[in-house]
Amino acid sequence: MALQKRYFVHTFGCQMNVSDSLRIGEVLGRLHYVPTAAYQDADLIIVNTCAIREKAEEKMLSALGRYRTVKMSRRALLGVAGCVAQQEKDRLLKRIPFLDFVFGPDAIAKLPEILRRVEEDRVRVVDTAWMDSEEYVFPRADPDTARGKVTEFVTIMKGCDNVCSFCVVPHTRGREVSRPFQDILSEIADLARVGVREVTLIGQNVNSYRGGLEFPQLLCRVAQSPGIDRVRFTTSHPHDLSDELIEAFRTEPKIAPHFHLPVQSGSDRILKSMRRDYNVAEYLERLGRLRAARPGIAVTTDIIVGFPGETAEDFEATLDLTEQVEFENQFSFVFSPRPKTAAGIHEKQWGPVPHELKIARLERLQAIQRGISLEIMQQQLGREVEVLVEGPSKFDPAKRFGRTPENRTVNFEGDGRPGALVMVRVEGASANALRGTQRDTVRGVECLD
Ligand code: SAM
Ligand code: SF4
Repeated sequence: MALQKRYFVHTFGCQMNVSDSLRIGEVLGRLHYVPTAAYQDADLIIVNTCAIREKAEEKMLSALGRYRTVKMSRRALLGVAGCVAQQEKDRLLKRIPFLDFVFGPDAIAKLPEILRRVEEDRVRVVDTAWMDSEEYVFPRADPDTARGKVTEFVTIMKGCDNVCSFCVVPHTRGREVSRPFQDILSEIADLARVGVREVTLIGQNVNSYRGGLEFPQLLCRVAQSPGIDRVRFTTSHPHDLSDELIEAFRTEPKIAPHFHLPVQSGSDRILKSMRRDYNVAEYLERLGRLRAARPGIAVTTDIIVGFPGETAEDFEATLDLTEQVEFENQFSFVFSPRPKTAAGIHEKQWGPVPHELKIARLERLQAIQRGISLEIMQQQLGREVEVLVEGPSKFDPAKRFGRTPENRTVNFEGDGRPGALVMVRVEGASANALRGTQRDTVRGVECLD
């Protein structure tokens, strides 16, 4: 019997890339490849890249340097996927002479043909064409791969039609295309049948979804899917936080009480330069209505520090906003100039914020956020929280790991099986996680298959 070929996928970046890597794995599975956790054993290595910040690209280059040795010793095939592939196209083959193929996010389904050409025709291949919206078929999670998982990402749209001046995504992911809602609901029904209890609907800008339903309607339909306990989504643009979406949070308890709402800056002047088309007052007003509709909802955000032209005053405004909103958590980054983005123009006009200053500001912001996160987590001490059990704890396999509806991670003593909903009494808290002991089972594990 011929030896099975092994593949290794290295994923950088956001949930979209994580989801794309799963789909790549499924396509390779159909070609009889099996995954390996050790890249040294792989016959095929794919680096699924992120272009959102310069650092992500540097990391890709250093990973490729490592994989080059495997290519030499085992004649492994080496490819680059994702946003850098889409951005750099054939330039990547020129820059990296040992690379065999490059393919963009729309070409995942064409991977068998790409590999055939590399192996049989012995050519280096680039496939970074966009697919027209009518032609595009969204990759669908294979329920067999999801078997045993409690939570899964489901792609509901691709691309982005916004023009935020710092962001490369519209160049690497193309125009917005929404996936028909029937496909989404049928994928979720398949996932629920194999035990998935929580789904996260993903896209760059999910609340501008238009796939036959409006986004709030889609959320409610997903929440009503048999077997699904919780529905989450990411990411949202504040300008699309509609009254209907807020109403869905009020009326549908299975929509998990967590909202990731990237604000990017606390300064109206900087928001304008970023082309975010809302101001701080509007952001706060929408957030106020959301919090009134679902008291206790956890709100997280993204912030960019050191955008070109950011003054000490602008930065102070971001600190003030962080304290005022009391974000549960934030992903904050220093501004990184990206090719083809309008922020390059601002950088020429205002000059870059010096790197050391950016880092100092980021550290100040993150220290404040850590304090707020810790305070929120400590408020949970002594409470009983509902946890969807995901599996053993990473820190101690004798314990369990799961998350609350607000997306707080909990490591706890107990016997809840993956997929069960249990009540946990909180006995310890850090800024990142809660600790506790299981008290009750709300719902055991039942199989719909
Ligand atoms: N669609 C989301 C939104 O509207 O906010 C953002 C998605 S983007 C993939 C994730 C985050 O990366 C952004 O919210 C932003 O904070 C950060 N980001 C994007 N471009 C950046 C840049 N050039 N420099 C630093 N951070 C950046
Ligand atoms: Fe980038 Fe998000 Fe703005 Fe789209 S909405 S351009 S993905 S930051």
